[in-house]
Amino acid sequence: MERAEVVIIGGGIMGASLAFALAGRGVRDVLVLEKRTVASGASGKSGALLRQHYSNRPEATLAHRSLQMFKDWGEIVGGDCGYDRCGLIVTVATSGPDDPNIARMRANVALQNSVGIRSEVLPAEELRRLQPFARFDDVAVGAYEAESGYVDAVAATRGMMDAALDRGARLREGVAVTGLRAVGGRIDGVETSDGPIDASVVVCAAGAWAAPILATAGVAVPLDPIRVQVAIVNSPDAMPRGGTMAYVDTSANHFCRNWGPNRTLVGIGGGEGHESVDPDAYDERPNPTFPARALGNLARRMPAMAGATPLGGHAGLYDMTPDAHPIIGLAPGVEGLHLCVGFSGAGFKKGPAVGQALAEQIIDGRSAIVDLASFRLERFADDGWLAPWSEHEYVLSSDFGHGF
Ligand SMILES: Cc1cc2nc3c(=O)[nH]c(=O)nc-3n(C[C@H](O)[C@H](O)[C@H](O)COP(=O)(O)OP(=O)(O)OC[C@H]3O[C@@H](n4cnc5c(N)ncnc54)[C@H](O)[C@@H]3O)c2cc1C
Repeated sequence: MERAEVVIIGGGIMGASLAFALAGRGVRDVLVLEKRTVASGASGKSGALLRQHYSNRPEATLAHRSLQMFKDWGEIVGGDCGYDRCGLIVTVATSGPDDPNIARMRANVALQNSVGIRSEVLPAEELRRLQPFARFDDVAVGAYEAESGYVDAVAATRGMMDAALDRGARLREGVAVTGLRAVGGRIDGVETSDGPIDASVVVCAAGAWAAPILATAGVAVPLDPIRVQVAIVNSPDAMPRGGTMAYVDTSANHFCRNWGPNRTLVGIGGGEGHESVDPDAYDERPNPTFPARALGNLARRMPAMAGATPLGGHAGLYDMTPDAHPIIGLAPGVEGLHLCVGFSGAGFKKGPAVGQALAEQIIDGRSAIVDLASFRLERFADDGWLAPWSEHEYVLSSDFGHGF
């Protein structure tokens, strides 16, 4: 029977970065099983915006640690992940000078600064000075991150996986895990479309597909696969050539970034049209009406973008948890089974550090990078998830899919 020391289910950014980290820590036989191809799930559809703006310390830390890796990718991972340090602006509804979201943003930026993130709260007129083609009359302030931007999601995921393979990990694409084998409360291996594989450590990083796999070992995870679309558009002549930052713009309800010269990726995180789907039978193309809707929201921030030409786009899956925060750590009741799922539409920016943190937990019993306790699955059973993750959570004007 085939054997591996650690089996990782899923070849997205989480599976790739965990394989890279485990192999880097000297774990000899790490096997990644991917039912399609590397980056065929959410990771390959990701906008891969590297927002650092969080209102809780663990996720701010993971985003910040990951940004350091994206920045120094060539030395740490090798190759090029397409990191563009274009700067990033975050907006939340801050209609007047007394809006409570302004104090929340100041507190959250102070938290981010305390973990090393370069972030600042800027008044609308300063944002306008940075981005003269944009209007900011709907917000009093915004958060500006000078070092943030985006990466090429497919290049980063494949690059991370290739680096893991260089370190000795193995990858089998086109092999689906059909079930988990547990004996006496301990993981024993996996059943696959290509036969059984023994392993004493199994990590489920199967994104929106994870729930039925975990159910075979009696582990219930509350994951809702939501279909989310993005459009790729050609920027009109009225837009400047270069200098456009990435935006996580909950006030105008869109996220956007450059997509090569003169092109923009624009998405809407939540609300109308974001339905639960069967992850094995969803339409990966955008709806015909979606680009116009996304451009309408983008044009509220950048009026000239109303004249953009839609070129295409795609739809991918958010693996939403009830509190829109991930599930990372041991599966209760099944020794040796680890969870790395539920990134709720905001995982790419945290992927490299999540791999490192989980590798530490698997090898050392705890992560030195970040306390993973907040991400435990048990929070959904004991109602721990109902407690706010931060004293300074925003009240958003749009259903953005995920919060901060
Ligand atoms: C449209 C869109 C835009 C996004 N934009 C951003 C953004 O700007 N910034 C950001 O940080 N995040 C963003 N995200 C979220 C981010 O992409 C995800 O959180 C992240 O990629 C999740 O990675 P993952 O490895 O957990 O899951 P996935 O990439 O989905 O990987 C899971 C893998 O498991 C495989 N698999 C499933 N079942 C099995 C099985 N039975 N056996 C073997 N393999 C299996 C799948 O084929 C898949 O490849 C976006 C997501 C989408 C959809």
